[in-house]
Amino acid sequence: MPPDRVIGVDVGGTKILGGTLERDGSIGRTIEVPTPTDGTDSFLRELDAVIERLLEDGAAAIGVGVPMTIDRTSGVALRANNLPLADLDLGARLGERFRLPVGLENDGNATALAEWRLGAGRGATDVLAFALGTGVGGGVVLDGRLYRGWAELGHIVVEADGPRCQGNCDGRGHLEALASGEAAERAARAIWGEPDAHRLVEEALAGEHRARAAIERIGHYLGVGIGSLVNVFVPEVVVVGGGFGAAAWKLLHEPALAAARREALSPADETLRIVPAELGDDAGLVGAGLVGFEALDGER
Ligand SMILES: [Zn+2]
Repeated sequence: MPPDRVIGVDVGGTKILGGTLERDGSIGRTIEVPTPTDGTDSFLRELDAVIERLLEDGAAAIGVGVPMTIDRTSGVALRANNLPLADLDLGARLGERFRLPVGLENDGNATALAEWRLGAGRGATDVLAFALGTGVGGGVVLDGRLYRGWAELGHIVVEADGPRCQGNCDGRGHLEALASGEAAERAARAIWGEPDAHRLVEEALAGEHRARAAIERIGHYLGVGIGSLVNVFVPEVVVVGGGFGAAAWKLLHEPALAAARREALSPADETLRIVPAELGDDAGLVGAGLVGFEALDGER
């Protein structure tokens, strides 16, 4: 087994992206398949198949990022917000099946780990990372360590009694409902009658004023959430990525920074930096791989 190569698997709401990862963060072969959404058995079958194929290249450990909350005591993945998955003892199961060290982490935490170690948060001691996709994921690095708790940054309230969250969350006015790709779809539907987030971003970038106002509103909510979290964690840097976050970054940045500065206490309001993620669509895969290296090195 090559001790400097692991398998990282990023389980998303629509696709499973697996790949081999070297210690320096370089990615080898990758495999992408749609995430089965009809239940646990087909999901596990597909996950096993992706790992089996990647193992042909040789790997010393496996890391998996899942969009689920994880019980830190038992290691069981408890619940997914946007997939029909619950109560999976995934780490133990994969360890038994493949006889390799296995690391399991929430996907937002894994993304934060990747951006901190190898991306836009490099060298910082305290980092907040957001992934704005269909939903909102995130993670927190504190005192030079990834916070292993839930860190469900998408489910903090930014508008009391606001719109209902999506998926299995019944909360109202959460960041995920107001600053995500889904929020952009809702805004597009209100303008043109069709929920097309890509169109919203494109037209906003081209200067269409309704689209622009909608994206700036989303940026404002993002900043409100960031400002509150700055008052708790005082991060040196806040990293914003994810598919929607990257596409709309140019328009999100200013309103987000303005709102965050307004809410943040001095002197954090002046020193606050909000920067774009650097690892793009690979952040989840790289983070999962890093979790695999931690399992290999006995750091977990
Ligand atoms: Zn929620």
